[in-house]
Amino acid sequence: MDLFEYQGKQYFSRFGIAVSPGDVADTVDEAVAVADRVGYPVVVKAQVKVGGRGKAGGVKLAIDADEVRLHAGNILGLDIKGHVVRRLWIERSSDIAKEYYASFTLDRANKSHLGMLSAQGGVEIEVVAEENPEAIAFLSIDPTRGLDIETSRRWVHEAELDEAAREQAAQLLVKLYDCYTTGDCDLAEINPLILTPDGTVHALDAKVTLDENASFRHPEWEEYRATETEDPREKMAKEKGLNYIGLDGTIGIIANGAGLAMSTLDVVNQVGGSAANFLDIGGGANADVMAAALEVINADPKVTAIFVNIFGGITRVDEVAKGVLEALARVTIKAPIVLRLDGTNAVEGRAILAPHLNDRLSTEPTMLDAARRAVSLANA
Ligand code: GDP
Ligand code: MN
Repeated sequence: MDLFEYQGKQYFSRFGIAVSPGDVADTVDEAVAVADRVGYPVVVKAQVKVGGRGKAGGVKLAIDADEVRLHAGNILGLDIKGHVVRRLWIERSSDIAKEYYASFTLDRANKSHLGMLSAQGGVEIEVVAEENPEAIAFLSIDPTRGLDIETSRRWVHEAELDEAAREQAAQLLVKLYDCYTTGDCDLAEINPLILTPDGTVHALDAKVTLDENASFRHPEWEEYRATETEDPREKMAKEKGLNYIGLDGTIGIIANGAGLAMSTLDVVNQVGGSAANFLDIGGGANADVMAAALEVINADPKVTAIFVNIFGGITRVDEVAKGVLEALARVTIKAPIVLRLDGTNAVEGRAILAPHLNDRLSTEPTMLDAARRAVSLANA
């Protein structure tokens, strides 16, 4: 789960990482109220989960209430790379002497954590990596040993951070590592980490991705979940415990097993269709699961045909067939359904469905045939 900048900064604060004082605002009036409280000059910052807000006009300096009004008015509602700004973060403006880059992320290949530190911050790290790779000091960290202050001091030295910034940066990086590990982040990134003219170091931006696998030990993450701008279809699927990912096409897909679901997307594409979703109902798909799956797909207004692709293994096809009928008795499905049923008890399964087949519910002998039929129904 990605956090907004303001949430990332609040998260950083818990681990003692210095950030600028500020608060959120959802309206122009609130923005002015926050700015009055925080003290001028302030920075008005768009809260969207995408980088490059500065370049897109989503980060503006304001010296008084009139400027806050102007910028807040312009930034609220602004579309930044497809993300519409609904919330602002207003913080006390900082004077900047130097902009650095710092991050921790997982290095799966090396079974270690990876720290990246650069004296050339403020710009995208991908650009630095491309044009000036030696300007990034990489640090591989053994997760069982962690990051101690001595190592951190050597690291800031190696990255050639300015002398005035080094000790504070070294201490901040140890805290950032603590945030990244104890705080269960997949990514903790500060860009820019700044040195002010009066010699203090603090985080001016925050990019935090939380590791959802650890959510069981973080009840406090609930507040972050509440602000997630989730696809309404994915939200509904999650509530029903389904393994669903929303896509842009017109063919709703239900398959048992992630591998088969992915193959189904490929086959649909191959015959000129486009999938509306990925949905793996897993093993042992009973009527409840099938009904839930059909309901979620039914709620998607773009879906014009549904392709149910089942290869029975442990999941028996006759059970799936019963599930489909039960689900249809419960839910009125708007789009026609094409089934491909194969594997364990396929013959029995097809026999169960046979009396119920019509132009809204049909079966095809192979995956390819079923994909073709679904595509032609979707385009009809
Ligand atoms: P991003 O563009 O989405 O990464 O947003 P940032 O929070 O990193 O802000 C973009 C840029 O705005 C920073 O790299 C800074 O150069 C500038 N900026 C942000 N906050 C301040 C501030 O308090 N004072 C000054 N002078 N510049 C700032
Ligand atoms: Mn940034």
